[in-house]
Amino acid sequence: TLSDRLSATFKNLRSKGRLSEADIDATIREIRRALLDADVAVPVVREFAGTVRERALSAEVSQALNPAQQVVSIVHEELIAILGGQQRPLHLAKNPPTVVLLAGLQGAGKTTLAGKLARHLREEGHTPLLVAADLQRPNAVTQLQVVGERAGVPVFAPHPGASDDGTVPEEGRRWWERSKKADPVAVARDGVEEARAKQYDVVIVDTAGRLGVDAEMMQQAADIRDAVHPDETLFVVDAMIGQDAVTTAQAFSDGVGFTGVVLSKLDGDARGGAALSVASVTGRPILYASTGEKLTDFEVFHPDRMASRILDMGDVMTLIEQAQKAWDAEQAEQMAGKLAAGEDFTLEDFLVQMQQLRQMGSMKKMLGMLPGMGQMRDAIENFDEREVDRIEAIVRSMTPTERRTPKIINGSRRARIARGSGTTTTEVNQLLERFAGAQKMMKQMAKGAGMPVPGMGNL
Ligand code: GDP
Ligand code: MG
Repeated sequence: TLSDRLSATFKNLRSKGRLSEADIDATIREIRRALLDADVAVPVVREFAGTVRERALSAEVSQALNPAQQVVSIVHEELIAILGGQQRPLHLAKNPPTVVLLAGLQGAGKTTLAGKLARHLREEGHTPLLVAADLQRPNAVTQLQVVGERAGVPVFAPHPGASDDGTVPEEGRRWWERSKKADPVAVARDGVEEARAKQYDVVIVDTAGRLGVDAEMMQQAADIRDAVHPDETLFVVDAMIGQDAVTTAQAFSDGVGFTGVVLSKLDGDARGGAALSVASVTGRPILYASTGEKLTDFEVFHPDRMASRILDMGDVMTLIEQAQKAWDAEQAEQMAGKLAAGEDFTLEDFLVQMQQLRQMGSMKKMLGMLPGMGQMRDAIENFDEREVDRIEAIVRSMTPTERRTPKIINGSRRARIARGSGTTTTEVNQLLERFAGAQKMMKQMAKGAGMPVPGMGNL
């Protein structure tokens, strides 16, 4: 998969120190191949690779991130940019009802999405109305009615049929009297009128699709658009259709035009190739994602999360950013200077690191969300805040000379330090061992191996 490929690439990067131009190019080649394998459209891949390469070559050297992390960071940022940057909420009309038109190929997931969106909006306090303007397939209306019932949202439909007690629903009768003929454009128009009359604040118009793009269908969608003046036209696209996503999106963009995209079937193997292609080629934001057949399998689309998903890093970038913040730049610079001058990383430096780790309090919770971060998660799970206090007490009980030159801490000094800090000699020993490990790590960092996180090795 795309994420496996990228992970492998980044693993190679991680084991290196500084990146040369050749390194960057090799990495870009991998990223290119990985994206193509994920069915991202060729021109999109080309443009993306170009941007990342340019930025990687001219990247300022960051104190807190090693070169590999910088490339990851650039790839991540560029993915977010293509995916639209910020999360884009549904634009609501100043004068309700807000009209949302759904367009897309047959089987793309429009009707399913209509129910999910209606439910979502209802939960947000809106009063949506669903409109069944797909009269192409015999069961299309019934399908929307079933979905509407599950969502607890009323459906305006042309063919009400008689219910069990033989009555005909009001909205159906109204349409029937006015139109006498199953015309999807009229149904859509009447549906919006109905919403206005009964003060529903959002109308979601479900439309027909064909298996392939064709002129007649496109015209029908355009006619409905002209009849209802949608505030949002959402193009629903199956995330698993790969390269075809681009041609389909282009056809709908030209034929009907749309203001936003919904990715459906993002629960399958789809790893985001279609998302990248559609967003990049049409320049339209992705508003929602459909992730299964159940009504609740629905997500507000977050570009940053999708970018992470594509990289399969969970929220690892957030983690890096947090670490970057906690690691005060000035201190990092001082440290780098000291290390370069051949001075040793001291116990006091170690204490400062531990205190910084404590500041990253939200890490524990954050790590709980990360996939594939087992080792690091364990390290943090086991990180006991009281331990920082203990370490602080121990270090404070040492003489300045001991702090600078821990080698001189013999048995009797250990006993004295333990007494002074209210700990045991075992705990003093443990601290000295951990410190020795951290010191080794700092020396590696001085050689450019990566950003150390106290007690955890390199990120
Ligand atoms: P429409 O023709 O565009 O209205 O598409 P439908 O909403 O009828 O969906 C077509 C098929 O795809 C149905 O069998 C749905 O159950 C299924 N489907 C829709 N959305 C999703 C999704 O997000 N995940 C999965 N796994 N199936 C979906
Ligand atoms: Mg449908």
